[in-house]
Amino acid sequence: MLDFNPSNYWLDTVEMPAGTPGDLPKSVDVAVVGAGFTGLSAARTLAKRGAKVAVFETNTIGWGASSRNGGMVLTGMKLGVETLADRYGMDATRRMYAASLASIDLVEQLVSEEKIECNFSRCGHLVVACKQSHFDTYARSVEVIAREFNHQLRIVPRNQLRGEIGSDIYYGGIIDEVSAGLNPARYVAGLGRAAIKAGAFIFENARVERIERNTSNGQPGFRLSTSRGGVFAHEVFIATSGYTSDATPALQKKIIPIGSFIIATEQLPEALADELSPRNRMIYDSKHYLYYYRLTPDNRMLFGGRAAFFPETSNTIRRSAEILRRGMIGVYPQLRDVKVEYAWGGTLDFCFDTMPHAGRMDGMHYAVGYAGHGVAMATYLGAKIAEQISGGPEDNPYVNVPFPGAPLGLYNGRPWFLPFAGAYYKILDWIS
Ligand SMILES: Cc1cc2nc3c(=O)[nH]c(=O)nc-3n(C[C@H](O)[C@H](O)[C@H](O)COP(=O)(O)OP(=O)(O)OC[C@H]3O[C@@H](n4cnc5c(N)ncnc54)[C@H](O)[C@@H]3O)c2cc1C
Repeated sequence: MLDFNPSNYWLDTVEMPAGTPGDLPKSVDVAVVGAGFTGLSAARTLAKRGAKVAVFETNTIGWGASSRNGGMVLTGMKLGVETLADRYGMDATRRMYAASLASIDLVEQLVSEEKIECNFSRCGHLVVACKQSHFDTYARSVEVIAREFNHQLRIVPRNQLRGEIGSDIYYGGIIDEVSAGLNPARYVAGLGRAAIKAGAFIFENARVERIERNTSNGQPGFRLSTSRGGVFAHEVFIATSGYTSDATPALQKKIIPIGSFIIATEQLPEALADELSPRNRMIYDSKHYLYYYRLTPDNRMLFGGRAAFFPETSNTIRRSAEILRRGMIGVYPQLRDVKVEYAWGGTLDFCFDTMPHAGRMDGMHYAVGYAGHGVAMATYLGAKIAEQISGGPEDNPYVNVPFPGAPLGLYNGRPWFLPFAGAYYKILDWIS
């Protein structure tokens, strides 16, 4: 049994900025719903371009996935490049891949410009193969990525893996030196401060309950009813990710909220931390039901996975913590006697095609569907949509990607099928 109070390690390392005090303005140019990476990055860009922008957040700044994640700033997308090329063609895939690289550059630039102390480091990521067949397919994708995207990855055969990871269970790996790691809670706090400094309002404890088309002084726009009062906005940007609610029912029906959970150990001795991750990479494995893990800046092992599938409750967190601890010891038997001090969960936003989507629905802008690859892409799409709202071109690689709903329309925003999906992916991991 684990003996601890479930809580998020990252939140013990940060002071979140306070939101805007006082009453809501009567009217704004742009209302942003959700104060995570997407919404705050958008608010910063809009305010810097002179827009009167207000962010509305049900809870507090960074409360959602943005303060709860693994802090892995990864190249590529959730789906492999071969799947993307089959579905969308090589040209579109090339643009998506380029955007994934540009998104990491943007995070690096923001961290430096806004002086955000969030331990950003280009430490690279390592994907480890759970089966020989997974490793065999790596060589092919490394070749495609080098040829088509001019981006160099490195294969690590099994007999050299000890230079990268203190575990013998994997069949080899791939390294991408361009990926980075950061402390996500400090990063989202920094984005919040940057948005406020640029002139954006951020209203916390302001749940958006209803959005209706409206006009003000003959200008078209939207009336937002929030738990702190009403406001008129010429444009609305929905940045609610896995927490999308019935305030935007059409979008809610296209997003499957899936739980992801993390444990963090006590601080490890330097020598043990070095043995587990000699190059301090961001690491994840090749399964559908994957594990992702890394060291924290103060040498804890942070170990995550989609252990329960259902979003976070005290029950799913506790159950997941047990599963994750067993998984962690499976990878690193060296951690058998190490104490787990933290466990928490958060909600991912999967779309039915496992793709990010950014565009317009019911006249409102949105960017969602990061599927666990959102640290960099949410920052990037938030800024891109903001540039578009302030008069720039519609310049993101997902505009022409069709946005599917549930097969046969059998989904009203309550994911009744998650246990079946969980079982399906477990079976897929056994057989593929
Ligand atoms: C456990 C976990 C681990 C992850 N690990 C990684 C990782 O290592 N690397 C990576 O790239 N990605 C990772 N992700 C994904 C990444 O965290 C997300 O993609 C990203 O944070 C999404 O940011 P966002 O701003 O779009 O949404 P969020 O940060 O989830 O913010 C959405 C906000 O909208 C608010 N909201 C919802 N409805 C309303 C409403 N009606 N009115 C007002 N406010 C509302 C919510 O309260 C919430 O604060 C992980 C996610 C989780 C949960």
